[in-house]
Amino acid sequence: MSRFDRRKAEAGEGPAPTREKRGTLAPLIIFIAIVVFIVVALVTSRSAATERPFSYTELLMDTEVNLQIFCRGSGEARRAKEALFDEMKRLERLLSYSDPKSDLARINRAAGERPVEISPETVEVIQKALDYSSISEGAFDPTVAPLLELWGFREGDYRVPDPDELEEAGVLVDYRLVEVGTAEVYLPRPGMALDLGGIAKGYIVDRGLALLSQSGVRHALINAGGDIGILGPKADGSPWRVGIKHPCTDGELIAVIPWMKRGAVVTSGDYERFFVEDGVRYHHILDPRTGYPASSLVSVTVVAPTAMEADALSTALFVMGPQRGLALVESLSGVEAIMVTPQLELLISSGLRDLVELPGENK
Ligand code: ADP
Ligand code: MG
Repeated sequence: MSRFDRRKAEAGEGPAPTREKRGTLAPLIIFIAIVVFIVVALVTSRSAATERPFSYTELLMDTEVNLQIFCRGSGEARRAKEALFDEMKRLERLLSYSDPKSDLARINRAAGERPVEISPETVEVIQKALDYSSISEGAFDPTVAPLLELWGFREGDYRVPDPDELEEAGVLVDYRLVEVGTAEVYLPRPGMALDLGGIAKGYIVDRGLALLSQSGVRHALINAGGDIGILGPKADGSPWRVGIKHPCTDGELIAVIPWMKRGAVVTSGDYERFFVEDGVRYHHILDPRTGYPASSLVSVTVVAPTAMEADALSTALFVMGPQRGLALVESLSGVEAIMVTPQLELLISSGLRDLVELPGENK
C-alpha cells in the first residue's frame, strides 16, 4: 500500500483498506471463536458430568414434600433445599386454612364484617382461584369451605351432614361473591370462608421452582404429595418418569408420563382423603352445586405449564366429570389430562396419547 493509499484509508476513503483489514483479522477471529467454543463445550460437559442427584424430604402443607435435585456438591444441594423449604414454609403460613395467623384465616374471620389487607401472594392465589372457578363454571370454587367443615374434612371429625345443613351452607358457596381489591379481600356474607386446598400446593411448588431456577439450578423435581413440579430434564438429559398411582391397588401404577420440560403433573384422587360410613366411602372433593363428594371420576391427572394451573384444574375436572372435563382440557393450550372412571376406564387427552406409558398394556 502506498503512503497515499494509507492516508486515504485513515480518512475513511477508498474501498481497498477495509477488505485488507478484514483479511488480516479473519484468522484471529476464527481462532478466538474456536477457543471460546472449546471452553464453553468443556465447561458445560464438565458441569453436566459432575452434577449428582440429591434427594430431601420434609413434612410441609400436611404432606411429605420431596425434592430431587442435581447439583455439583452436597453443600450446594443443601443450600438450595434449605432456601426452598424456607420459602415454601413462608408461603404455607400465608395460605394455610388452619393457622389462625394466616392471611386466609384473617379473611375468613372477617367475613360479613370488613375487607382484610393481605400480602400480594395471597391476592394472587385468590385471584387465580377465582379465574379457575370461572373457567370451570363453578366446579372449582374456593368458597366451598363451609361445606368441607360440615363433612368434617377440615378438622378430621368426619360425618355425613343432613341435606338441610348442606342446603343452608350451600347459600354461602359462590365464588362470584368474593370481592378482591389490589391488596385486600372481602367475603360479604357472615359464615362465608375460603379454602385454597385445591390450588395452594401448586402455587407453592411453582414459587419453589422459580427460586431454584433463579439460583442456577437446572434439573429438579418437587413432589408435594402428588403435586409435581419439574425444572428441566435430569442432568443426563433424560426425562423424569412420573408415575400415576392406581386408584384401587396400593403400590401399583396406572400410567407413567415421561416429562422433561419445565411444567407440572398433578393428580387429584378420591383415595387421598376419605372416610367410610355405613359401607359408603365419602371423599374430600365436593361438588359445590350438590354439596356431596363428586362421583363421576376416581382420579384425574393434569399436565400443565404451571403446578398451580394443574392443581386447580385437576380438582375442577374431578368435579366436572369425563365429558365436560375433557372438553375443557382440549380447549386450553398446553394442558393435558388423564382421567380414570369408577369402572377404571382411562380417558386420555389428545396431546398425551402418544406420550403416556400404560404399564397394564404392552405398548
Ligand atoms: P389433594 O389436596 O389431595 O392434593 P386436590 O388438589 O384435589 O387434592 O384438592 C382437594 C382439596 O381442595 C380439598 O381438600 C379441599 O380443601 C379443596 N376442595 C374440595 N372441593 C373443592 C372444589 N369443588 N373446589 C375447590 N376446592 C375444593
Ligand atoms: Mg387440586
